[in-house]
Amino acid sequence: KEKNLLMDEKAMGRAIRRIAHEIIERNKGLDNTVLVGIHTRGVPLAKRLAAELSAIEGLAVPVYDLDISAYRDDAKKTSINMVAKGQTRFDADGKTVILVDDVLFTGRTVRSALNAIMELGRPRYIELAVLVDRGHRELPIRADYVGKNVPTSRREDISVQLREVDGQEQVVLREQ
Ligand code: 5GP
Ligand code: MG
Repeated sequence: KEKNLLMDEKAMGRAIRRIAHEIIERNKGLDNTVLVGIHTRGVPLAKRLAAELSAIEGLAVPVYDLDISAYRDDAKKTSINMVAKGQTRFDADGKTVILVDDVLFTGRTVRSALNAIMELGRPRYIELAVLVDRGHRELPIRADYVGKNVPTSRREDISVQLREVDGQEQVVLREQ
């Protein structure tokens, strides 16, 4: 059982900050931009991205929480909830929706997320940001923003540990 540090707290912070700059550059600002974090660890990552984006551009970017497992269990009752209290209705119409997740692997989770979002309106663009791309795609899906590309074997596993969820901050490669 090997322990392999891929990113420490500083590297993770830098990657998120870089992605925030890339988002603003590609979209020429943040007009009509919303972030949708894929539950669980995509949500705190989306919140951090939102904080970086507003620090750079000086405006608030809404963050939503999309639970794909709930979507799979009951496809009729898709719910995407705003993380901050108040208005909870998710309206994708005309928006630039940036999906955020911790790890991109086969692409099946993202495919489900795309379905969920597109049932709730007609976004102008959907983009994808991930902290780690570990390869092994099974669908024609790629990320627009990547914190770190980590070639893995199928048996390996990326452990993404976030302060908010795990009490510590690192990305580790685990071998089974
Ligand atoms: P996919 O649907 O692309 O096969 O897998 C991506 C989803 O599964 C993401 O939501 C991610 O959290 C989780 N996932 C897949 N592989 C890994 C991994 O190696 N490490 C972690 N932390 N999550 C993974
Ligand atoms: Mg996940």
